[in-house]
Amino acid sequence: MEAQKTLLRSAQKECFNEEGRKSLKNFQVFTDNDGILRLKSRIANEDELPEFIAPLILPPKHLVIKRLIEQEHLVHKHAGTSILTILRERFWIIKGRRTISSVIRDCIICKRQKTKNLEVPISTSASRSNQTISSI
Ligand SMILES: [Zn+2]
Repeated sequence: MEAQKTLLRSAQKECFNEEGRKSLKNFQVFTDNDGILRLKSRIANEDELPEFIAPLILPPKHLVIKRLIEQEHLVHKHAGTSILTILRERFWIIKGRRTISSVIRDCIICKRQKTKNLEVPISTSASRSNQTISSI
C-alpha cells in the first residue's frame, strides 16, 4: 500500500499542477499528512474506514490510474464499470465511469471474448456463394 500511495501521490502532483487544479474546482479537497490529496466526503460516519470518508482524488489521464483500473478489472474477473463502486471506497477518479470504460475497452482478453461472441458460423456453401457474388 505504501508503494502504491507514493505512485498515486506523484500522479496527483503531475496532473494537479496549477492548470490541473482547475479540474478540482467542483470538489472539496484537502491534503492529508502524507501529502496526498483527498476528497472531503459528506459521509462522516465514524464507523467508516478513513479511506471511505476521504477517498484519494485521482486524475483520469495518468498511467498509474490506468494500471489501477486494469488491476481491479482483473481482480474482479473482467467486470465492467461496476468496479467504479468498488474503487470509490478508496479512490475518487475524476470522470470515473468514462475513464474505466476506456481502460476496459483496451483489455485484450475482453476484446477477444467480444469477437468470439460475434463470430457467426458460416457454412462453406454460403461463403462460396458470397465469393461468386463478389466476383461478378
Ligand atoms: Zn477484461
